[in-house]
Order: sequence, then structure tokens, then C-alpha cells
Amino acid sequence: MRIILLGPPGSGKGTQAQLLVQRYGIVQLSTGEMLRAAVAAGTPVGLKAKEIMAGGGLVPDDVVVGIISDRIDQPDAKAGFILDGFPRTVPQAEALDELLKHKHMKLDAVIELRVNESALLSRVETRVAQMRERGEEVRVDDTPEVLTKRLASYRSLTEPLIHYYSERRKLSTIDGMMAIDEVTRAIHRLLLALGAVEPKTHAKGTTKSTVKGAAKKGAKKAAKVAKKPAKTAKKAAKASKKAAKGAPKTTKKALKKAVKKMVKKAAKKGPKKSAKKVTKKRAKR
Ligand code: ADP
Repeated sequence: MRIILLGPPGSGKGTQAQLLVQRYGIVQLSTGEMLRAAVAAGTPVGLKAKEIMAGGGLVPDDVVVGIISDRIDQPDAKAGFILDGFPRTVPQAEALDELLKHKHMKLDAVIELRVNESALLSRVETRVAQMRERGEEVRVDDTPEVLTKRLASYRSLTEPLIHYYSERRKLSTIDGMMAIDEVTRAIHRLLLALGAVEPKTHAKGTTKSTVKGAAKKGAKKAAKVAKKPAKTAKKAAKASKKAAKGAPKTTKKALKKAVKKMVKKAAKKGPKKSAKKVTKKRAKR
């Protein structure tokens, strides 16, 4: 299963991704977390990203595309992955399409968690309070001021992806205002309807600690709900058309550059060898 979770900050992508990881035995690839790790480790990427992230802006497309490309190649991502926080711009989505095509991989679903904007601030405030309680370090960008900027960048740069994926018939929208376990159940129903199979080792042991009984209800219910996503996708397409109107146009140049870079990198090992062989053969002739 290869899934993208789409939604504004505070929509619950991280929470849901973790539950999916436990149930389906796939990995969560969160660009936000990877970037925060890079910042903490002081790597060159981290140094580049630090100020941008603290201010609520977006790290350059080629940086995140590079990170994701490398990460998808790791053995633990072979069984599938959930992208959380990526893609975040249309050029990133186009780069991802290229990347997956190049790796002969297919995207199964893009799940949009739709929430009322008015709920986001209080959700983030709750998250901050809970982290403080647990003695965890609070994110520097989890302040009301920076959140406003993150939301603005979501609206202008990320929301157009709703249109992008609904046009490609990949989008399903789930009401992210429901309780956490209800959202999880809705995601499971959707994934079952799409033909997702829970690995045996994960199916029994983890249901208890994750979502109670969502899987037990089985394929019958999934078939019922299968109709729903189509409806919500239509609605989403309408809404996203509206959103896309005000959005900036895709920077084809930036995308091409990023993809070129990636493909070059990927081609460094395999294809070069065969290219050499070909030239040798030609020389013989
Ligand atoms: P959020 O809760 O806002 O979704 P994330 O943890 O996903 O937060 O990301 C935190 C920050 O990391 C973002 O505000 C942005 O600066 C950077 N970031 C994460 N993913 C991307 C991406 N795909 N493209 C550009 N910047 C990103």
C-alpha cells in the first residue's frame, strides 16, 4: 500500500499515519519529521531548512524530493509507505509521479483529511499542552503566529493538490472533524474497499491497541462504503476547483530541475553500466 495523507497542520495526519503503520506494517514517511531530525543533527539539509521551518515557510522542493527519493529506496519501505507532509506543492506531486514511475511503483490512494479551519488552532494548542505535560520538546513552529503562516502556505500551495489528485481519480476525502477512532475506521474502510490486505502478523495483535474492531467488520461493510469515496471525491473536486483558482501556477522549471536531478542520481548506478556495454558493443562493430 502506498498512501498519501493530505490535510492542513493539525488535521490529524500524523496521528492517523501512526495507526496505519501499526496495522498495515508499512512505514510512515514524514518530511516534517525527517527535516526536524536533519535540523537536530545539524546536517547540510538541516542547516538549510532550520530558519525556513521556524518561520512557517516551505523548504525548497528539490530538497524534500531528494529526501523522499532516497527514503523510498530503503528496504523497510518496500512493503509500502504513508507519505505524511509530502507532497506539499504541485511541483512536488509531479516529481513524485515521475519518481514512482521511474521506480515502477504505483500510488494506491490519496486521503484528504478535511477539517474546519477554526478547529486547527485549538488542536495545535492541545498538542502543545500534551507535549509539555509529557516533558517533550515543543516544536518551534507550533505558535499561533507561525501556525497562521503554515495555514496560509497550505491554502495557497498545498490545497491545489486536492484538485491534482481528484483529476487523476486518486483522491478520497474523509471528514477529519470526527473522533480519532472514527477517522481511523473510515480510513480502514476506504483501504479495504481499495483492496488493502492487513498482514497476518499485524492484524490480530495490534487491533486491540489501535482501533477497536475496525477490521473485524470485514469486506461487506467495505463494499457498502466503497460508494462513498466517489461521492466525496466529487465534492472535493468541486471545492478544489474553487481553491485552485487562486493558487499559483506550477513552476514547471523547478519541477523539471528536481526530476532531472533525481533521475540523474538514480541512473548513476544501473543504467550507466548498460550504456557502457552498448558503446563497447558498438565499438566492436
Ligand atoms: P505540519 O504540522 O505543518 O503539517 P510538518 O511536521 O509536516 O508540519 O512540517 C513542518 C515544516 O517542515 C513545514 O512547515 C515546512 O517548513 C517543512 N516541510 C515539511 N514537509 C515539507 C515539504 N514536503 N515541502 C516543503 N517543506 C516541508
